[in-house]
Amino acid sequence: MPPLTAAQKWQLDYLDAQEASLQGNYDAANPPLQNVINHSGNRTLAAKASALLMNNLAMRHRYQEAFTLAQRLSENVPNLQDAATRLSVLTNLSQMLNLAGQNDLAIQYARMAEQSVPEGTKPCRPRFMLMAALYSAKKLTSSAPDLSKTTKLCEEAGQPIFVVATQLILSTLYLEEHQPTKALALLDRLDPLLKINRYFPHTLSAATQRAQAYEQLGRDKDAKTAALAVLDMTRPGTIDNMLIDVYQLLYRIAERHGDTADALRYYKEYINQKQSALDDASAQALAYQAVQQQVLTRKLEIEELGRQNSVLKLQQALSAKAVETSRLYIALLLIGLGGVALWLFRTMRSQRRFKRMATRDGLTDIFNHQHFMSECEKRLQALQKRAGHACLIWIDLDHFKRINDTHGHAIGDAALRHSVAICQQQLRPDDLIGRLGGEEFGILLGDCPREQAIAIADRIRLAIEASPMVLDEAVVSISASIGVANTATSGHDLQRLCRDADAALYRAKHAGRNRVVADAAGSNLAEA
Ligand code: GH3
Ligand code: MG
Ligand code: MG
Repeated sequence: MPPLTAAQKWQLDYLDAQEASLQGNYDAANPPLQNVINHSGNRTLAAKASALLMNNLAMRHRYQEAFTLAQRLSENVPNLQDAATRLSVLTNLSQMLNLAGQNDLAIQYARMAEQSVPEGTKPCRPRFMLMAALYSAKKLTSSAPDLSKTTKLCEEAGQPIFVVATQLILSTLYLEEHQPTKALALLDRLDPLLKINRYFPHTLSAATQRAQAYEQLGRDKDAKTAALAVLDMTRPGTIDNMLIDVYQLLYRIAERHGDTADALRYYKEYINQKQSALDDASAQALAYQAVQQQVLTRKLEIEELGRQNSVLKLQQALSAKAVETSRLYIALLLIGLGGVALWLFRTMRSQRRFKRMATRDGLTDIFNHQHFMSECEKRLQALQKRAGHACLIWIDLDHFKRINDTHGHAIGDAALRHSVAICQQQLRPDDLIGRLGGEEFGILLGDCPREQAIAIADRIRLAIEASPMVLDEAVVSISASIGVANTATSGHDLQRLCRDADAALYRAKHAGRNRVVADAAGSNLAEA
């Protein structure tokens, strides 16, 4: 066999690295990929290697490096001549941005990828990426025709992994829409294909969903068995978004059956998983912002260089002519200073924006989950030192899914902002309010006795109920279930307080919604 040419060797290195990536062996894959990017001299191959490296970095939670590569790759897309490379880069960009929580960008790149598919080829993977990104952006429902179209397309393209992946999005949607029977039937149908594919993330996801479906059907025993089976599939100490749901489910079941020791054990695991997910999400947001910041600074530096250059040329011309030099120099100096001031102003402004984005929820502009929790922690510690008391209020809007389904997601978003504004009207400037996720909010009232907190919670509940959103064509009624916990009963430990507020909220839901329940096991009820 003739020896390989240099070009073939680079190609082989790339393929080896691709193989290692598919097996999840990123440490073995990344150095050769970097080598291909830096030294192969082949732009097409380097672009493919960058796209793969970018995904590997994101899988390893190395978001800043991944975003830096994404930035470079996206700038380079217009220069990519080879259609297949362009497609692969765009699809990978979409996948990575979705993984890193930049949903809107992920949607945009998936659409671009779909348009880059050569004539006569089925755009299965870009289409799936689009579905995944739309799902993450909460812009999909189980009845979306695009979902079944994508499944069919991937079947025709002979891509069973993407068939399953699409169907798993569908079953998640069924569960989110409280249609457990449909979800179970779908999971049963998928089972044979799952066994053929043997793709671990899918097996894990299907098993988790099965447990959730059983729970929704009230089959706690089956749900528990299925959830424990998921834990059996993972190594101890595994941190995975999926396990948040599994532990939460096990905790709920244990609690329902009065098994306090198990409930506490699972709850701790649940919090542990959830905290890791939150840390990861904030690492993503910070990395993304940091890269945007660098790009901005680089642009400004380039502008600055260009400007200095023209100043130099001007100066030369001036000294040659030697006319009115001093006045012009002063003017130039002023322009220079103005430039620096503008640069400083822009940088400071974007840093302020950057900080705000890291602590605030983008939709409602109140604290995001992580920041709310850390502020609560500080406040509780300070209160504990001087033996002060506080109450924690957890709010979950009732049947919010219905509002989305009936009026659309944009109205749903407006209803969230509307409800937050109503809550804020009932609060003192010192009270903390944050979005815990979805349509759930937390409020910490410092120096507030239990009875007063219950009264405030009920005022909030009544105000929400009494202030429907009036639209041109419809009136959107909103109601909320509220749980209240207080430090006098639960102590100053935030986790314990959260658990008690959550349990109270859970009781409020079960007692029929649109009501306030204080204390997990207590008896106070203020209802509609
Ligand atoms: P209940 O709490 O009364 O049991 O019913 P629910 O319908 O509110 O239940 P669930 O918590 O399961 O669903 C919350 C829904 O809120 C699901 C999701 O579609 C919707 N949602 C979550 N985040 C957002 C968002 O940012 N915007 C909009 N419009 N909807 C959201
Ligand atoms: Mg909810
Ligand atoms: Mg709700």
